[in-house]
Amino acid sequence: MALPVGHTLAGLIISKAAADKKTKFNLLTILILANLSDIDYFFGLFSNGNALTYHRSPLTHSPFFAIFVALLFWLFGKITKKNFSMRYLAAIFLIVLSHWIIDFNTFLPYWFDINSGKNGLYDFLFTHLLSFEGLYNSVIDLVFYGALYVLVVKFVLKKKLL
Ligand SMILES: [Zn+2]
Repeated sequence: MALPVGHTLAGLIISKAAADKKTKFNLLTILILANLSDIDYFFGLFSNGNALTYHRSPLTHSPFFAIFVALLFWLFGKITKKNFSMRYLAAIFLIVLSHWIIDFNTFLPYWFDINSGKNGLYDFLFTHLLSFEGLYNSVIDLVFYGALYVLVVKFVLKKKLL
């Protein structure tokens, strides 16, 4: 798993790897794509007030969802005549896919109590995100995925960090 910080940094690594003179990525797009799978929190919140009810179902956490999002972009590009390149669409697929892969890796020492934060939006927010637990997990993300970002972008891709 990772918090939004880690997912976004992973998305940034992929966007840096895919970027070239013609292919550019918008920071907001990456932020949304990298965390899009977690819209499933809202499915649970709206149905029974527990954000974790449908969390990580294959509907949003699977390679199929990543294909679906890339296809939506392709379709959007066709309709608006933007015609995104294959490189751009492949990066979108990989950014969404990275969310799924990271969520099923639990090697980092996160502090997460799956049995709390089940009573509505605010309980969820103040338990898992805007809390000491959330802050601690975000720092873990920042250290691990931040270091990974620097290593990959600077030494493997040999590109500018920003
Ligand atoms: Zn997730």
